[in-house]
Amino acid sequence: MNTVSFADLKLAPEILKALTESGYTIPTPIQAQAIPVVLEGHDLMAGTQTGTGKTAAFALPMLQKLMPLASSSTSPARHPVRALILVPTRELAIQVEESVRTYAKHTHLRSLVVFGGVDIKTQTPHLKTGVEILVATPGRLLDHIEQKTVLLNQVQMLVLDEADRMLDMGFMPALKRILALLPRQRQSLMFSATFSNEIKKLSEDFMNYPSLIEVARSNASAENIAQKVFLVEQGDKHQLLTQLLRGDDAKQAIVFTKTKLTASRLAKQLQRDGVAADAIHGDKSQLERMQALDAFKQGKVAVLIATDVAARGLDIDSLPMVINYEIPHAAEDYVHRIGRTGRAGASGTAISLVSPEEEKYLLDIEKLIKQQIDRERAEVPRHSDRPARSTRSERPDRAAHAYHAPAPKKPSHDPWFDQPYVPSISAPAVPLKKADDPVAGKPKAQIPALFVRRTN
Ligand code: AMP
Repeated sequence: MNTVSFADLKLAPEILKALTESGYTIPTPIQAQAIPVVLEGHDLMAGTQTGTGKTAAFALPMLQKLMPLASSSTSPARHPVRALILVPTRELAIQVEESVRTYAKHTHLRSLVVFGGVDIKTQTPHLKTGVEILVATPGRLLDHIEQKTVLLNQVQMLVLDEADRMLDMGFMPALKRILALLPRQRQSLMFSATFSNEIKKLSEDFMNYPSLIEVARSNASAENIAQKVFLVEQGDKHQLLTQLLRGDDAKQAIVFTKTKLTASRLAKQLQRDGVAADAIHGDKSQLERMQALDAFKQGKVAVLIATDVAARGLDIDSLPMVINYEIPHAAEDYVHRIGRTGRAGASGTAISLVSPEEEKYLLDIEKLIKQQIDRERAEVPRHSDRPARSTRSERPDRAAHAYHAPAPKKPSHDPWFDQPYVPSISAPAVPLKKADDPVAGKPKAQIPALFVRRTN
């Protein structure tokens, strides 16, 4: 049991005030361990799962260290970039900067986020006013460096957040170019869910005798997440999903798919089923992704369908459920995905729909998390029990009444699953049923009891 308080960590009153206003009462384990190390000025390599409070673990001591340098002057020269936080995706960039801004609101420190996919000219004026803390995706930061709209020669703190994902996404060359531009005399912090050999090599290259902290066994999945597998034919997944989403726990859920195509198609099918669903994936514009995420956070969208890349970095408070419509082929992605629920100690449910073809990937996941996941066999009504399907109804786009769409037979080589979020606790619940839905008004079905047979 962690009994340390934020005040025990010797954080400044301005920071403590912001934490109290955010409703934080006690530090999470990663915060309790990392904050003193960072305040002492050590480099740090931290193994943390998503949702452990890692952002505050680096942001709070960062603010504390930069506070003596804060200036109320409006002159840009008095606000050089002193801390650089590099993250793999725009969504994570936005969320990290929002957190930094919240924690810094009673200080004179300024923060800014820059990421690709939007007109660079809209970011330049903000950069020119001067900011102490810059959150950036690597590619866009390099664009700004090339355009000479940012100077990094006064950076004294560097954070690589979700470093494993940055490497997975091919950011190594960009990282190397950025690192070469930073002062050698600086403090470096790295956060990663997994510690591969490549990550270790990266830390050797740019860190100085880092302290190592692991809040949970690396590659372990959070203990407060109830995991369950439904064994189901690929072609029956859509029907099972619809049923699950009508269950009691599914007030809001993130559904992960492997490909962008499946994400879009599934969102359309669910909308036809009366579920307030939307998809986010790499083919959507930044604006569309932000709008979908906002609608989800506000509770206007009940189900967000995401691919792995699109979902990275999403942070929504108190998301109760993550569903893997298809399980990821890279076992580590499973850990990232389910980490979107059960954040900051809350409990969550992670359900995976696993077809016979996918069972081999399930075994890989179980090996990685060193845990056997409870399996149940889903018995959805046979085709003859459903409305007859014409050839036309097999086209998911046109099948107004088709209950499920046949999954593409071709296995995808595009790892696309993602991770969950958490909607604001105050978000109004969105009914998952249409007013004219025959099921509406009846007591909610206890899905597993209805059509699930336990197999182990
Ligand atoms: P992170 O792992 O940084 O993405 O944080 C996950 C979630 O936990 C975010 O919604 C944070 O606002 C929340 N959080 C972080 N630290 C605390 C804390 N000490 N108490 C309560 N919530 C926290």
